[in-house]
Amino acid sequence: MKYYDKLIFELSKEGRCGYSLPQNKFPASPEVPLQLRREAPLGLPEVSEPDVVRHYTNLSQMNFGVDTGFYPLGSCTMKYNPKINEEMAALQGFAGLHPLMHAGLVKGALKVYQEMNKALAAITGMYTFTLDPCAGAHGELTGLMIMRTYHMQRGDFKRTKVIVPDSAHGTNPASAAVCGLEVVEVKSLENGRIDVEALKPLLTDEVAGIMMTNPNTLGLFETEIKTIAKLVHEAGGLLYYDGANMNPLMGVVRPGDMGFDIMHLNLHKTFSTPHGGGGPGSGPVGVAKHLEDCIPDLRVSGFHGNFGVILRAYAYILSLGKDHLKKVGQYAVLSANYIKECLKDKYKLPIEGVCKHEFVFDGLIHDGAHDDVPGATTLDVAKRLLDYGFHAPTIYFPLLFHQALMIEPTETESKETLDAFIGVMRKIADEAAQDPMILHEAPHNTPISRPDETTAARNPILKYQDAQ
Ligand SMILES: *Cc1c(COP(=O)(O)O)cnc(C)c1O
Repeated sequence: MKYYDKLIFELSKEGRCGYSLPQNKFPASPEVPLQLRREAPLGLPEVSEPDVVRHYTNLSQMNFGVDTGFYPLGSCTMKYNPKINEEMAALQGFAGLHPLMHAGLVKGALKVYQEMNKALAAITGMYTFTLDPCAGAHGELTGLMIMRTYHMQRGDFKRTKVIVPDSAHGTNPASAAVCGLEVVEVKSLENGRIDVEALKPLLTDEVAGIMMTNPNTLGLFETEIKTIAKLVHEAGGLLYYDGANMNPLMGVVRPGDMGFDIMHLNLHKTFSTPHGGGGPGSGPVGVAKHLEDCIPDLRVSGFHGNFGVILRAYAYILSLGKDHLKKVGQYAVLSANYIKECLKDKYKLPIEGVCKHEFVFDGLIHDGAHDDVPGATTLDVAKRLLDYGFHAPTIYFPLLFHQALMIEPTETESKETLDAFIGVMRKIADEAAQDPMILHEAPHNTPISRPDETTAARNPILKYQDAQ
């Protein structure tokens, strides 16, 4: 353990002082009742200013972020977040706003909402957007409420089912359930796309609509989308587009043109605002013209969504402009295909062919299993990557493959970084083939190795606990 891995309480020395406040000249406030007043001092660590700075700086570096290294987390689009977006969001005139200010005083912010609405409509082919929802899943729920409202307004009350492909992101069936809809699963074909023949018999007059991700969570474009749209519409249903993975399509094709009626975007993925750790997001929902009237009654957030996130995304769109937004997708697709082709002799590629911005391997080709030593798994590969300074890809999702390893490099990485990652992935595959124990025990170089993830999530220890 390095000296400064010690927690700040362990560095405390009685009487040491990092900063002192001026002497309090006022008597204790009579408004604080006696029984609430502190009798003994708080017990804060007594340390110098450099100790405090090192403590927090070291803590911040125990975590992995896109500013520390390559983060190919499939489906999550962990692209680099340009710092100009932060500068724009920090401008006093924006950062100092209060949601209850008079409209006359917030004209600039209102203009951002308006312009953003227009930009998103142009990018997606939708008619108009609500910027209220604060995350992708929140957008899904909002979109499904719009879908329900549409059927209710027409007096079509029996439409309570929503079709979701088996490759869908987990939030899709969850949002449908929260919205009071019944989920009906549609199977995928061997080639990873929706089975249109399996879809047909599901399209009854009880179906409110279908939720689709395109490209789907395997990174594959649904080539039959026009047929699917026609079938669903003929059956009286609506098409919902999960646009969390809009990254590869920007400037190339638009969900509105594919026949979708409702969609959400993840500004915190495609439009490069920081996310992770449950941080602020934004999931604007767009609708086709015939659904415009279904929006206004919905209030899904206290005020008008996460303005700071919307602002960052607006800065991103303006700084790239139309031509460069198109390049985002093209480079994202190129990067994903490059990695896939360079690694497919070491990792199982269940579905051949060109992918979009991400793809899925199904574990190692040679996992090194021998005698009593079990072979290296996808979890082991993911853990070993941390030793080499890369964040792991998404693992064990989608559920279609047992050893899923889902890689999304994004457009923001240089060829040199991609090559370094490919080199490490090949090295790990060789290590596994020769001695899988190295992988079973990884990571070796991180502050903690393999926590019990369930306990860590359910009973996290969030404050210092004395060793005794
Ligand atoms: C990330 C993601 C979501 C959920 O978005 P959140 O902002 O995390 O709620 C939904 N669908 C897909 C395809 C995603 O990748």
